Amino acid sequence: MPKPATNRSIDILIVDDREDGLIVLDALLSENSSYNLVKASSGAEAIGLLPLYDFSMLLLDVQMPGIDGFETAEIIRRDSRFQHIPIIFVTAINKDERYVYRGYEAGAVDYIFKPFDPVILKSKVAVFAELFKQNRTIRQQSLQLAEREALEHRTYIQSLELESLRRYRNLADAIPHMVLRASATGHLEYHNRQWSAYTGMTSEQSYGTGWHNALDPHNLNDVLEFWNRSITGGDRYETECRIRGKEGQLRWFWVKAEAERNKQGEVIAWLGTCTDIHDRKIAEQKLIEAQQNAEAANDAKTHFLANMSHEIRTPLNAIIGFTEVLHDPSVSFEEKMKSVSIVRRNGTQLLKIVDEILDISKVEAGGLVTEKVNTDLMQLLGEIKTLLTGMASKKKIGLTFEFKTGIPPRIVTDSTRLRQIILNIVGNAIKFTQKGSVDMQVRFITKMDGKCYLSFEVMDTGVGIDASSMKKIFQPFSQADSSTTRLYGGTGLGLALSRRLARAMGGDVLLQRSKPGAGSTFLIEVEVGLPTAEENLAAAEAADTKSEDRPPYLAAAEFPLQGKRILLVEDAEDNQMLISQFLSRTGALIDFANNGEEGVRKALAGEYEVILMDIQMPLIDGYQATSRLRRAGYDRPIIALTAHALVEEREKCLSIGCNGHLTKPIGRQQLIESLVQHTS
Ligand code: ADP
Repeated sequence: MPKPATNRSIDILIVDDREDGLIVLDALLSENSSYNLVKASSGAEAIGLLPLYDFSMLLLDVQMPGIDGFETAEIIRRDSRFQHIPIIFVTAINKDERYVYRGYEAGAVDYIFKPFDPVILKSKVAVFAELFKQNRTIRQQSLQLAEREALEHRTYIQSLELESLRRYRNLADAIPHMVLRASATGHLEYHNRQWSAYTGMTSEQSYGTGWHNALDPHNLNDVLEFWNRSITGGDRYETECRIRGKEGQLRWFWVKAEAERNKQGEVIAWLGTCTDIHDRKIAEQKLIEAQQNAEAANDAKTHFLANMSHEIRTPLNAIIGFTEVLHDPSVSFEEKMKSVSIVRRNGTQLLKIVDEILDISKVEAGGLVTEKVNTDLMQLLGEIKTLLTGMASKKKIGLTFEFKTGIPPRIVTDSTRLRQIILNIVGNAIKFTQKGSVDMQVRFITKMDGKCYLSFEVMDTGVGIDASSMKKIFQPFSQADSSTTRLYGGTGLGLALSRRLARAMGGDVLLQRSKPGAGSTFLIEVEVGLPTAEENLAAAEAADTKSEDRPPYLAAAEFPLQGKRILLVEDAEDNQMLISQFLSRTGALIDFANNGEEGVRKALAGEYEVILMDIQMPLIDGYQATSRLRRAGYDRPIIALTAHALVEEREKCLSIGCNGHLTKPIGRQQLIESLVQHTS
């Protein structure tokens, strides 16, 4: 068995076919313990041993059976791994120069001739051994040097890699988006600072599939399904989804991921970004909503206008038709009187429609101003009952108002609007009831939030409403069925308006229950305030003074405006005629002005006790004319004539200097009463 090579030994291969030759060499050289003598008895064996050792030299016998020493040397020289091993031929016979040259040609570095001088042999071997040792040291040093260089190079490359990784991370952290990197199978391996800052999740919580927990659970399945499709197909991933923030808020993000591929085109990772698009998305949604609302509002407006024109035309048609009847000389006096009352009824209906439409559009535009007036609730309900009792008794049905809780004597509310709502709902109940009764239960409630409410439960035993119409009836111009108008009249605006008014007053109008043929129950609720004791005292005093100031009722008096000079500023000739007609038997002296300009001139020039000032006029309107007069120092009473009964309108008239306010159409008594009041 050959002795394995060690780092320190000097391996020497001795080749001789003769045992004694080997023994002699071994005996001579083994004196040096650093030599490791390896023996071979043929050229072939020697060649086989070469790869197993790091031989410093070969002592090669020339004369051998099979391949001789020269041939062995030639084979060794041809192998680049062993061609540098020095070969010393040991020979007894071939001292002939020809052979010596052959030996050198075959790669010999020296010759030793037998019988040899042991000293020469040892010293020659020692020279090559030393040479080998030095060579080996140089080789080892250069190997170490190469290793050190390789190590330095690797360290340098690693530091470069670390630096570029650091830069990459800094760059990713500086980007105002979330940056993510996932493995080819979609497992998160990296995220930048933005991810943890927004989601509040640590890397441990996010890595792998932990990031799924930050996705909106509502569309998690869709997002993951799409993501898995990208992973399988290697396609670019792009979607919009909501991601949960650390406070639990869900915001919209634009999520994108691109595959990172190796040279063979295989996906090795996914690089993704999440961009916050929440504000833009919400703005977009709002825009779409606003567009839809605008379209819906436009449709509603068109629908509303079509309805309105229809509703207005119906009574107008009757008015125009029956005034023609009045013109007809062949029609009897009784018939004419009937026509007059039809014209009047339709006129009143028209007025109601116009008022309600105006109110509804005011509420819808958010412009309805509700008043807060200290109101005597009992008096208000008493007045309402008086108004409705006639209507109920005509139909022979009962009408009761019942107080189910203690009721404060005075409340702060918009009494005009409250009256309007109750009149509408109780009026409907009476209208749609043929037999039985209408009962209203009144309650005063204080709710948990400390706010006070009045509730009115209106129960009737009338026709009832079928389930399909229950919602519809609160929409403008909606009636339970088309025969309603024919049977009961009405505009279909009352409930819509009442609900809007009640909502504007912090309450609502609801249909609590209804059964066709068995009656309905409506609930009115409005928020009310409670006045302080001082406010109550002041209100009571004001009411007393008002009743003292009120002139005795004058309709019965003869010529209540005897000799009073009145200036009527009005552009419409019909209205001039109507008012002259109303004042014809009062003893008043009326003068006319056809516009604001003329009104101001005449008022300043003449001695009028009172001015009736129309508001809507060409050139300068009633507001401007009144302001001019007041600025010019005119201090006589001015009563405004306005088209509608809105609170704002009345307040505007009073604020620019009018003393009173009458709403068209003006009633005769109301006109005379107001003129007497302002001229006495
Ligand atoms: P109007 O009474 O002028 O038709 P409303 O808006 O007040 O308009 O009412 C809408 C519809 O609701 C009525 O036409 C009627 O069909 C139904 N309605 C309202 N109140 C009652 C009631 N108490 N009983 C039966 N139906 C009612």
